[in-house]
Amino acid sequence: MNKLNDLRDAFELDCPACGQADHLQIVITALARLTPDGSDLDGDHEWDDGSYCRCPDCDDDGIVADFRQTVRDAERTARAKSESEVQS
Ligand SMILES: [Zn+2]
Repeated sequence: MNKLNDLRDAFELDCPACGQADHLQIVITALARLTPDGSDLDGDHEWDDGSYCRCPDCDDDGIVADFRQTVRDAERTARAKSESEVQS
């Protein structure tokens, strides 16, 4: 089995501002059991491309999709395409 070296390998994520792919902070949604004593995590947690995401190294933030290489590449391609259509 291949070892996943960083967030690029594991999730196609990296920081668009500083380029690091070792760690990011994301907001997760989790189920918790609430009792009179307080809340305890109960089960899995979830996150997706719309979850808040932040780079702890350079404070760049946005949503997970902003940190996804493939989304940025697609947007760049689309932008270049529309710019070339305007010019022609
Ligand atoms: Zn960063």
